Amino acid sequence: MNKIKKLIKYLLRDELTTQHRLINAILVVGIGALVFCTFFDFFVGTGIRTFWIMGLLILCFVFSLYIANVKNKPNAAGLILAVISNYFLMPFLYFLEGGKESGMPMWLTLAGLFVWLIVDGWPVFLIYIGDIILYASLLIIEYFHPEYVHKMADRKAEYIDYIFAISALIIIFGSIFKVQNRVYEKRRIELEDKERELTEMNLSLEKANEAKSIFLARMSHEIRTPINAVIGMNEMILRESAEANILNYAGSIETASNSLLSLINDILDFSKIESGLMKIIPEEYEVASLINDCYSLLDMRAKGKGLRLKLEHNEKLPSVLLGDGVRIKQIITNLLTNAVKYTDRGTITLEVDYIKKEDTRIDLVIRVTDTGRGISDEDIGGIFDSFSRADERQNRNIEGTGLGLSITKQLIDLMNGSISVKSKQGVGSEFTAVIPQTVVSREPIGNIWEKFNAGSRTGQNYRESLTAPEASILVVDDVQVNLQIIKLLLKTTQINIDTAESGRKAIELYEDNHYDLVFLDHMMPEMDGIETFDEIKKSERYKNEQTPIVVLTANAIQGADKEYMAVGFADYLTKPVQAKELEHVLIKLLPKDLVTMTE
Ligand code: ADP
Repeated sequence: MNKIKKLIKYLLRDELTTQHRLINAILVVGIGALVFCTFFDFFVGTGIRTFWIMGLLILCFVFSLYIANVKNKPNAAGLILAVISNYFLMPFLYFLEGGKESGMPMWLTLAGLFVWLIVDGWPVFLIYIGDIILYASLLIIEYFHPEYVHKMADRKAEYIDYIFAISALIIIFGSIFKVQNRVYEKRRIELEDKERELTEMNLSLEKANEAKSIFLARMSHEIRTPINAVIGMNEMILRESAEANILNYAGSIETASNSLLSLINDILDFSKIESGLMKIIPEEYEVASLINDCYSLLDMRAKGKGLRLKLEHNEKLPSVLLGDGVRIKQIITNLLTNAVKYTDRGTITLEVDYIKKEDTRIDLVIRVTDTGRGISDEDIGGIFDSFSRADERQNRNIEGTGLGLSITKQLIDLMNGSISVKSKQGVGSEFTAVIPQTVVSREPIGNIWEKFNAGSRTGQNYRESLTAPEASILVVDDVQVNLQIIKLLLKTTQINIDTAESGRKAIELYEDNHYDLVFLDHMMPEMDGIETFDEIKKSERYKNEQTPIVVLTANAIQGADKEYMAVGFADYLTKPVQAKELEHVLIKLLPKDLVTMTE
């Protein structure tokens, strides 16, 4: 008994498909029922021939069980069983077991129904049509040749056989449905458990992700603040020192801190994309100025390596577009940076073109071609994956994390665009990005070179462009060194600068003095920038004050500027504060009559 239980358990084990388990269940129930019927028929007196036929039927079921499980072909087993039992055994039984007056019509129904359960796909219909033809033929033969049918002993035997066939039909199909129901119920419970597990896992993943984002935002703040100090102080050395070796050291510090900053920015972007926080913010932008910015940014680096950076653009390109200009700039800069990084001699070409789509839609086409080392066929498939770097051995001296192209691709995906690459090792690479944009102004950009004459293009060190000896400003930051940096950066502007290391101190100073402009750090202990700002604006005393307040922040998250503007800040400066941006804000926000432009 135990062995039979074990065998049944094995035949209904979880690893099998539902269809396979169903066929096994039918075969097991079928064999049980046939063994029982054989003995029953024997005693009712249907004769030795029936006994042999039933025996053959049992063998046929066992053979199918073998094909389904040992040969692992459940569908073939179902088909064999259906054909043998329906077309060979059933017609024999019909003539031997009393024809249509007995329980035979029920047995034929049972056989016909079996086919639907155990045969998969279109053969079911063929067997069904065959069954109908066969059943009709049996009735016709019995009608014209009743003597062919071996009648049962008497009416009583016929009734018993009839009742028995009905109850067998009910029991067999009832058991099959029960088994099937149990299988489904088990699956349903398993699925429910899995779903619960997944929801729990999802929740904890979300929590971990949130924690990761908070950690990264904090870390970016923490790291950007000291880099701010390094870059700012170093800039003062570069400006003030005349000693060649000091300038040399400071130059190295500048390169290292800038690459550290870009690494931090990459990690921040990557984690934002990963956690779904990266948003595409469409704004109107001037195409010419965007191209010029990208060109200017990389031209110096290219020249530094003895490379030529060539710009080719379609002069008919619409001049103003709607899209995320900041991210498009990041994409172009990433592609150009790679081209410069992985090219030792020759030319890098930035090509900007467009494909007209419907009315106000275009596809902006950006192509960056280089004559660099190229990428091998085996590496090219993986270059857009995170942290993947092609040809690690050859490129080991080139700085990189393998994040740039992954970020670039994901940004392009977010904008519903596409990026492709063609490359030949030792010859060069060509990256093409296609990004859908909306046209705001159809006016063609014309020749960019004429607009931005070569002289004003990058490469020159920044020099102070204003003086304002009558102007007074207040700078608030809890980090002493940051205050010092701003003071140093503005030294030659002759602006009167007061500093405060806390919000509280800032309010005190603000009460006693008049300022033309205030720079207020966001993240300060006790009273942060926003609280200080609110306090100032709420106070009756300063209600009518028009002094613009600019927020200083290490929070580089895109879209933060809009939040600050919504609070009421006049502008927004990201740390590390760049001298050029700082002075740009001063020119924009200081009273015009106090400012004298020096260049
Ligand atoms: P990395 O920080 O390593 O530059 P990227 O994601 O920007 O990371 O690039 C992935 C890899 O693709 C690089 O390590 C480099 O092997 C290859 N690659 C990218 N751009 C170029 C190019 N212009 N020429 C040759 N190889 C390139």
